[in-house]
Amino acid sequence: MRPVSEIIVHCTATPEGRPVTVAEIDHWHHARGWSGIGYHRVIGLNGERWVGRPLEKIGAHCEGHNTGTIGVVYVGGLAKDGRTPKDTRNDAQKEALLAELVDLRDRFDIKKVSGHREYAAKACPSFDASAEYDHLFEGRSKGFVPAIDHVLKRGDFGPDVVVWCGKLNAWRETMRMKAPLIPREDFDHDVEMATIEFQRQRRIVADGKVGPQTRGEMKLALAYKPPFRALG
Ligand SMILES: [Zn+2]
Repeated sequence: MRPVSEIIVHCTATPEGRPVTVAEIDHWHHARGWSGIGYHRVIGLNGERWVGRPLEKIGAHCEGHNTGTIGVVYVGGLAKDGRTPKDTRNDAQKEALLAELVDLRDRFDIKKVSGHREYAAKACPSFDASAEYDHLFEGRSKGFVPAIDHVLKRGDFGPDVVVWCGKLNAWRETMRMKAPLIPREDFDHDVEMATIEFQRQRRIVADGKVGPQTRGEMKLALAYKPPFRALG
């Protein structure tokens, strides 16, 4: 298991009362170019506790905060109009979500539950998760510092960029591509373009940034393995 210390709660941003399945979320996230469902746990409308992405795999649910976190989503989060953020959790969902959080807390020594909106300009999960769940972590969350994804992007400089260039070159060699990238400390246009090319070939989000998903994908690529899929 990778080290985890925080749970981030989400909503599916679907209208109140509309059922959503794990397969459906997996489909949405594939359509966005992700490797399938980005959440680890899904709380269904009737309080079902479904498994999404395996816990040991890093999630894709909160930009900048996928390292060290588990993503839990409940179905709902919007009023019936499909637009207005609303805490639509029914009693069964509240109970299931709480049980899920407590189970994960005890299994992995989680220190804190946060809501997605605490890290992004979004309404998700349409309620104040910290306020509601902080009491579960008395004595644990003191001094808690959220983990932040290590991301390399254009304009960055340093030895990490040289290492990344080396990996891009190793991969380019496996693909029999001509003209290796000259390793450099400067994450410039050429490094960005080579990164995008890699991401496109592996069918992951081609944003030219090197975060946990891109690093993980590189590991698979260099081991001659097919692209990661969240659901087997
Ligand atoms: Zn969210």
